[in-house]
Amino acid sequence: MITFEQLGLDDRLVKATSELGYIHPTPIQEQAIPVLLGATQDLIGLAQTGTGKTAAFALPLLSIIKEDKKYPQALIVCPTRELCLQIVKEIVGFKKFMKEINVVAVYGGASISLQIRDIKRGVQIIVATPGRLIDLIERKAVNLEKIQYVVLDEADEMLNMGFQDDIEFILKNTPIRESTWLFSATMPAAIRKVSKKYMDNPVEITVGKANTVNTSIDHQYYVTAAQHRYETLKRLIDFNPGIYGIIFTRTKADAQNIAEKLTREGYDIDALHGDLTQPQRDRVMKQFRDRSLQLLIATDVAARGIDVKEITHVINYELPDDVEVYTHRSGRTGRAGSTGICISIIHSRESYRLKQIQKIVQAPFNKMEIPSGKDVCRKQFFSFMDRLLSADVSHGDYESYVPMLEERFADISKEEVLKRVAALEFDRFLQYYENAGDLNVRPGENRADRRDRQTGRDRRDRGGDNDRRGQRKDRDNRDFQGDTTRLFINIGTKDGFYKASFLQFILDMSDLRKDVLGRIDMKEMNSWVEIDKNAATQMVRSLDGKKFKGRKIRMNDAETGGRR
Ligand code: AMP
Repeated sequence: MITFEQLGLDDRLVKATSELGYIHPTPIQEQAIPVLLGATQDLIGLAQTGTGKTAAFALPLLSIIKEDKKYPQALIVCPTRELCLQIVKEIVGFKKFMKEINVVAVYGGASISLQIRDIKRGVQIIVATPGRLIDLIERKAVNLEKIQYVVLDEADEMLNMGFQDDIEFILKNTPIRESTWLFSATMPAAIRKVSKKYMDNPVEITVGKANTVNTSIDHQYYVTAAQHRYETLKRLIDFNPGIYGIIFTRTKADAQNIAEKLTREGYDIDALHGDLTQPQRDRVMKQFRDRSLQLLIATDVAARGIDVKEITHVINYELPDDVEVYTHRSGRTGRAGSTGICISIIHSRESYRLKQIQKIVQAPFNKMEIPSGKDVCRKQFFSFMDRLLSADVSHGDYESYVPMLEERFADISKEEVLKRVAALEFDRFLQYYENAGDLNVRPGENRADRRDRQTGRDRRDRGGDNDRRGQRKDRDNRDFQGDTTRLFINIGTKDGFYKASFLQFILDMSDLRKDVLGRIDMKEMNSWVEIDKNAATQMVRSLDGKKFKGRKIRMNDAETGGRR
């Protein structure tokens, strides 16, 4: 694999990237940096955010700029204030050993006089949003005459936001421009037109497929009735206890209403939409970045340029009107090598729109079942147990409380204590989900079917035939009492399992439901699982021979010793 040094960058930049923890260039960096170091070649980079495109243009820019000349030589134009600040932040990191280079961010919604003062200090690089830049040009605070390099970042977003004229103005008024570097996630006709008009024989680099989203994103969708959208959203949030995500709505009103409703119900969420003042917006973004907010709900316009790391989920509360917007939304997760999930909540008549999106994204979309109330409770329960077991008790003087605790709990068994802890934590969920209906819309199902299922009735209640769903419901509700067998497995408490997490593990691996299981005996090295005879084969097939922490799992019939 190639290194930053081999790309021909200034030594000080190589040192800075290494300090930032960059080991190898990303594909766009590997392809773009050698071209851009030449300083005269126009370039089109088709790349999503998260591919490392900022460094792909910032590093060569820092290499070719004349440090001793204290006037603007490079202009980076991008759609939003957030992106401006993000780019400047990265450049500041890269130029750590190049003290003579100055960079400034200019964007709307902040004091223009302070920005003018910063520019006058002698900057070589200006990072700007189009509107504010034009404003500064008109006030003669910025002179484009000596600009040699123009970078257009997220060009498609800028055109979507109506900045086409501003961009053309900038390109027309940079008379000694030596090269233009355009980066975009998609390549709509309008961008082609701009590039034909203002760029000279550009080299084109595509990372991944043009118009596609990142392959590290798992695209999932859930089908529900339109009136159950909110309920479904809530259930999906509850089913993912560690979620750190952005929910997209089409309207400001939806963003606001849902945020208010969820806040009232105890969720850490706030809304980002066009009606917020800049300080309000900054406050929300800060809380989200600090993770004091677990969820952010936003309209597309308000979310432009947001770059927050480690977003686990993007949720489309509704599909966007414009299919390309989907790409931008989903690109907020799965960044820089991590993986993410993009969830869409749709109703059955929206399937055709999903197909259109799928065509553009060119990635598989997985249809998922909306979890049942029971599933949610189980998930929450296990997450809570994991938190309990991994709670850090090394700080604080907990030891000194132990005798007191022992005295207080002397007459209560460990089981009772655990039950009460669980009750304190879970009452909200258990009460809410106790009688929760099924929110899925299934193919071919009519309204009456759905209503019955959602309220927990099956067809027999209406005197109709027993159907497959009715049978399944019976199974879900009974405690297993049928014919059992015992399975042996070479996994035990030494592998870090306790009974509940082990049970979750074997159920997850085998895709079986809890009610097929009976007694579980765990020893250090091995365990024994009592299971419905009819489910035993599936369990053995799903686990036997698979790897756990590098070790091969052996599972077989405990009575006969043989494989099933
Ligand atoms: P971008 O596509 O420019 O928004 O970059 C996404 C993230 O990847 C940023 O947080 C960068 O700091 C990070 N990044 C960029 N290049 C590399 C690299 N070569 N190695 C590791 N991280 C990188």
